[in-house]
Amino acid sequence: MNSFNYERAAAPGGAIRSGSAHGAKFLAGGTNLVDLMKYGVESPTILIDINHLDLAQVTQNPDGGVAIGALVRNSDLADHTLIKNQYPLLSQALLGGASPQLRNMATTGGNLLQRTRCYYFTDVSFPACNKRTPGSGCAAINGYNRIHAILGQTDKGSTSGESCIATHPSDMCVAMAALDAKVEVEGPKGRRTIPFAEFHKLPGATPWIETALHADELIVGVTLPPPKFAKNAYYLKARDRNSYAFALISVAAGLEMEGDHVRSAGLALGGVALKPWRKIEAEKVLIAKAAGAESFRQAAEILLQGAKGYEHNAFKIELAKQGVVRALTLASQGTTEGVQA
Ligand SMILES: Cc1cc2nc3c(=O)[nH]c(=O)nc-3n(C[C@H](O)[C@H](O)[C@H](O)COP(=O)(O)OP(=O)(O)OC[C@H]3O[C@@H](n4cnc5c(N)ncnc54)[C@H](O)[C@@H]3O)c2cc1C
Ligand code: SF4
Repeated sequence: MNSFNYERAAAPGGAIRSGSAHGAKFLAGGTNLVDLMKYGVESPTILIDINHLDLAQVTQNPDGGVAIGALVRNSDLADHTLIKNQYPLLSQALLGGASPQLRNMATTGGNLLQRTRCYYFTDVSFPACNKRTPGSGCAAINGYNRIHAILGQTDKGSTSGESCIATHPSDMCVAMAALDAKVEVEGPKGRRTIPFAEFHKLPGATPWIETALHADELIVGVTLPPPKFAKNAYYLKARDRNSYAFALISVAAGLEMEGDHVRSAGLALGGVALKPWRKIEAEKVLIAKAAGAESFRQAAEILLQGAKGYEHNAFKIELAKQGVVRALTLASQGTTEGVQA
C-alpha cells in the first residue's frame, strides 16, 4: 500500500475544503475503498475520514418523503421503521447485499460510489483496463465476462465500439432508481441535487468518469419521494450463491395498485449495466392495465431492448426478462416470500 495522510473531518465544510486537495478521497465505511487501496487500484494521497460528520439520520420530509444521511449504515437503513414499512423495496435490496458484517459498516454514500467488481479492474496484473488506465483497452470484452454488462455499453460518445463492459454492483442503488431517489451533494460552490437517473454515468468513451459528482463534492444524503409502493414491492436477485454474492441480474419492482390494475410503477434492473437500468416506457406500459403476465413481459422486452451479450454472459438477457416478469408478479401479489437476506 502507498503511504497517505489521514485527516478526520468534524464538519462538512472542513471535509469539502480538505477534499479539494489533489488526490484526496473521503473515507466512510472503507469496505470498498480500503480493499482497492490494498489491491493497488486506488492510491489516494489524503484520506479524509468523514465518519464523525452528523450525517447518520433518517428523517421524514414535510412532503411525506424521506431524507437519508450519507453516513446511515446499510443495516440501519434496512432496519429503519420508516424504510421497512414505507419503502420495503429499499429494505429488501439492502438486505440482499453483502453480509451482515459488511452492511454494519457500509454507508449510503459509499454504496452509491462503490466501484465495479470486474475482475480485470480489481487485478492490476491485467494491464488492459480503460477504466483504470484510459486508452489501455478492455480485457473483459474478449476475456471471461460472465458478470459483465449487456446494456448501455455502446452509449453515445464511444466512436470505437465498447470501451468498457463493466456493471455497477450495488443492490441499494437499483431500488433507489426504481423509487426515483435524488442524491444531495455539497461542494465548494454550494449544494445541489442530482436526480438518480443522472448520477451514475454509462461508459461511453470515458469509462473512468463514473458519476456526475465532482471530485471535491461530498454526498450529504439521498431523498426519496413520498412512498407509493409500500404494499406491492419485490427485489429479486439472481446470483451464483444464495448469500454474500453480487447480482448476476437483479430487479427492483414497485407497483401502486388500484384493485387489480396498476396505477403507477417503478422498475429497474441491476447487474446489467454500469448504472441501474431504468426506462420510463417500460413502466408506462404497465399503467392502467390489469397486473398480469402479458404487460409484465412487454415491460421486460422494453427494458431489455438493444441488449447485447458476450461469450459468457448472453444468458443474462433471458434471465433478466424472466426476472422482470417474476418480480412484477410477486410485487403485484404483495408477497415477500423468497426475498433474500
Ligand atoms: C465481500 C463483499 C461483498 C459485497 N457484496 C455486495 C452486494 O452483494 N451488494 C452490494 O450492493 N454491495 C456489496 N458489497 C459492497 C458494499 O456494499 C460496499 O463496499 C459499500 O456499500 C461501500 O460503502 P462504504 O461506506 O464502505 O464506502 P467506502 O469504501 O468508504 O467508500 C467507497 C467510495 O465512496 C467514496 N465516498 C464514501 N462516502 C462518500 C461521501 N459521503 N461523499 C463522497 N464520497 C464518498 C469514497 O471516497 C470511496 O471512493 C460487497 C462488498 C464486499 C467487500
Ligand atoms: S470491463 Fe471496464 S473495468 Fe472491466 S476490464 Fe474492461 S474497461 Fe476495465
